[in-house]
Amino acid sequence: MAVTILIVEDEPAIQELIALNLKRAGHMTLCANSAEKAKSLINNVLPDLVLLDWMLPDISGLEFAQKLRQEERTKTIPIIMLTARTQENDKISGLEAGADDYITKPFSPRELLARIKAVLRRRLPEMSDDIIELGGLRLDPTTHRVHVQNNGDISQLMEINLGPTEFRLLHFLMTYKERVHTRAQLLDRVWGDHVFIEDRTVDVHIRRLRKILETVNKENLVQTVRGAGYRFSIENQEESVG
Ligand code: CA
Repeated sequence: MAVTILIVEDEPAIQELIALNLKRAGHMTLCANSAEKAKSLINNVLPDLVLLDWMLPDISGLEFAQKLRQEERTKTIPIIMLTARTQENDKISGLEAGADDYITKPFSPRELLARIKAVLRRRLPEMSDDIIELGGLRLDPTTHRVHVQNNGDISQLMEINLGPTEFRLLHFLMTYKERVHTRAQLLDRVWGDHVFIEDRTVDVHIRRLRKILETVNKENLVQTVRGAGYRFSIENQEESVG
């Protein structure tokens, strides 16, 4: 589960230590020593998670968390607050400002990584490495492989080959099975930042995905919901419109 993490921390030694540990764990890191710097980094690259220090030189981490929650582009980004404060009231205001979790300094790298993992698992389940089995498909995020059960016989697994985008799309749809996603939502969550990608791109990849699933008679699992978007469903297969 390697992701891009933005570290907003004005104390260089702490920032460096956190970045080092996150990189060792396989994550990519972006570093900012103020809210303003963080904002300009976010304008370029949308991170998967923000580690946000409470006490910053410009505005407080609390205020910055509220700003991130107010903007369309960043409102769902997972935020973990870092702070030297230990008062219960502070913890409550951090969570009320929209933070997902709260870590009190000093913390061990191990605790930090465990908290990050827990928040990502909760907020971005499509980034988890858990195998998903649904509707006769078996998707393994670790090996990037999808198998299909032959005639309902689990001992006869056949591999289907998907391109990287189709794989991510299927992984996302299976993670949030039965839920309808708009094209904009899919672009945000599967492609990442969608500023420069057209909605039509989603349709193209959905078509490719269905075409591959068609070879194993599973194309009806990926359904078009007219005027709304797409979903993965093991029910209502007759409603599907190609
Ligand atoms: Ca600070």
